[in-house]
Amino acid sequence: MEKDQSKVIREQAERSALREHSVPLYLTSSFIFDSAEQGRSIFADEEAGMVYSRYANPNTTEFINKVCILEGAENGLAFASGMAAVFASLAGFVQNGDHIVSSRAIFGSTHQLLTQLFPRWGITSTYVDAIDNTAWASAIQENTKIVYLESPSNPGLELADLDFLGKLKKQHPHIIFIIDNCFATPYLQKPINYGFDLSVHSATKYMDGQGRVLGGVIVGRQDLIDKLMFFIRHTGPAMSPFNAWVLSKSLDTLSLRMERHCSNALAVAEILEHHTEVIKVNYPFLPSHPQYDLAKKQMKAGGGIVTFEVQGGQERAFNFLDALKMILYTSNLGDARSIATHPSSTTHSKLTEEERVHLGIKPGTVRLSVGIEDKSDIINDILQALEQTK
Ligand SMILES: *Cc1c(COP(=O)(O)O)cnc(C)c1O
Repeated sequence: MEKDQSKVIREQAERSALREHSVPLYLTSSFIFDSAEQGRSIFADEEAGMVYSRYANPNTTEFINKVCILEGAENGLAFASGMAAVFASLAGFVQNGDHIVSSRAIFGSTHQLLTQLFPRWGITSTYVDAIDNTAWASAIQENTKIVYLESPSNPGLELADLDFLGKLKKQHPHIIFIIDNCFATPYLQKPINYGFDLSVHSATKYMDGQGRVLGGVIVGRQDLIDKLMFFIRHTGPAMSPFNAWVLSKSLDTLSLRMERHCSNALAVAEILEHHTEVIKVNYPFLPSHPQYDLAKKQMKAGGGIVTFEVQGGQERAFNFLDALKMILYTSNLGDARSIATHPSSTTHSKLTEEERVHLGIKPGTVRLSVGIEDKSDIINDILQALEQTK
């Protein structure tokens, strides 16, 4: 049997009569029926076939199939953005009166969904600290429909214990367990193997890996994907064929890129940890990380994100960011190019001071998305910016 990496590279939309080597871009909104009878039978689900690109398209199907191979999932759906995928993964299942248990440290817009939008429709939620296993178990109520989490978290890089949560799922078979696996990617961890029902991604990040297109994807249990298919057919968050074509090709190199992201990030984390201008470094594969053993158990490597706190608070953090020469400041991550950001004044600025403290975000916290440039160039840029701003 071929291994995942070989399967991903060989997965391709059916070759056309032109015998093309690389997959064509199917920029078509709809598909032709050979006969009125075929139109009827495809609409009646008696015969498989493409109908309309809001439902499926050869490029999006190819992209989804590759993510399924990587995650060990039965089926999936592709979305115009990561947030469209996150929203569908929740809204596609809940109704008035339902309850969601979620890890506290979640992507900003997901936090807005749970605290601002869903309460409008009578859907409540409870936050728990991802690292606290007993809190997960005790937050579950009679009306809990979904357990939702991110691991590692952004930007604190705290981990949820996937093995524990998989066992909790077994005790509550009717609750849907969903993970936003964007930071780890299926290269580093495969939550479905632990018993998670669905794995959600912003494909915009590591899956693209080059900062070009937005995309989202949900993969997991066939019966749940079928239910979500109804939701997306009638709400229309479909991924464009162009973005799917870009993202599908990107997946061929995901493992190579992740290996480099992770080895560079570990090297950066090790250097920063011993730097006198740095108060604290967070990186799951540093022995000083409070969940180092768990990280080693459930992740193949530590990931591409490193967060650290510089001496001197916000002013120093701003000066540091401005002093970087190669590393850019942009609100994206998972790019081939290294990126630095200041969470407390940007991505997490809408939170209260108390919420930020709870997530470990200080005025001096910097988040690095370590790219795949030469390790020494990344480290030298960071060191010169720390030196210059002393
Ligand atoms: C970026 C991100 C999202 C949202 O994805 P978009 O593609 O920007 O809509 C969701 N979850 C996580 C963890 C992210 O980093």
